Amino acid sequence: METIRLDKLLAATGAGTRSEVKNAIRKGRVTVNGAVCKSADSKVDADKDVICLDGAPVVYTRYEYHMLYKPAGCVTAVRDARYPTVMDYISSARKKDLFPVGRLDLDTEGLLLITNDGELAHRLLAPGWHVDKTYYARVQGEVTAEDIRRFQEGIDIGEKRPTMPAELEILAAGQESEVRVTIHEGKYHQVKRMFAAIGKPVLYLKRLRMGSLTLDENLQAGGSRLLTQEETEALH
Ligand code: URA
Repeated sequence: METIRLDKLLAATGAGTRSEVKNAIRKGRVTVNGAVCKSADSKVDADKDVICLDGAPVVYTRYEYHMLYKPAGCVTAVRDARYPTVMDYISSARKKDLFPVGRLDLDTEGLLLITNDGELAHRLLAPGWHVDKTYYARVQGEVTAEDIRRFQEGIDIGEKRPTMPAELEILAAGQESEVRVTIHEGKYHQVKRMFAAIGKPVLYLKRLRMGSLTLDENLQAGGSRLLTQEETEALH
């Protein structure tokens, strides 16, 4: 059972701003289980009560899951004094409750999950969970078969232990190389530190996948969409 204020529930469905829905409630346009309810602060059971606005039932879901194609130049935070944040790219009636799951650097692009589901976020980020993350990277220098082997063995990035085995795939090799890399943990600046350790600094980094979730190719940088039901279920 989830009890929630009537005006909060209505605003979360996208029916209007908090003051617009309060106004609608005051005017008698909202019913709870068939009876007009004129007090915005009434507590309703989001799982059981049938709430209608102008006679039409509203659909409330407790959790929202947004896939953002994070552009470069914004920070993965809910607020920041200097830079735009990833939240500036999300539109939602309940933006205040949403937060990014994990973190991409200021200059890193790609897949970021934004939600109000704290339990899922906690689980995806738990150190023992090891959600795979796949990145596309452009790096300086020629990536070789020897580098693939070193990534597979684990790289010393100056921590107590080397990184866990990571899969490195060469897409194009030359003075600059294009690669796909999959890591199974999430250390601070991990991908950049791994390439720095082999003397091939990252020039561009984009996350393509996180666990079961793949960046939608139809999204442009800065674009977002809600997860489909299948994507949401696969994450749980
Ligand atoms: N690894 C990095 O170095 N940076 C990121 O943003 C993500 C992974």
